Amino acid sequence: MNEGKVYKQREQFCGNCKQIFDRNDLTWINDNYGIPYKKVCESCYEEVHEQIRNNNYGEELSYYEMWGD
Ligand SMILES: [Zn+2]
Repeated sequence: MNEGKVYKQREQFCGNCKQIFDRNDLTWINDNYGIPYKKVCESCYEEVHEQIRNNNYGEELSYYEMWGD
């Protein structure tokens, strides 16, 4: 999948602040059911974790936001 766009493979949006990071700098957060919910940067991790604990998931991400181009 997406093999034609290798040059972008390492870049990915943080699921929270929408900034672009190297995907190695992003961490998956699981929801209350243990399902991967968002991949976020280090500075957003605590905030998003708190949102999940409070069951405030916010908007759903598109495929593009989750996985990049
Ligand atoms: Zn972030």
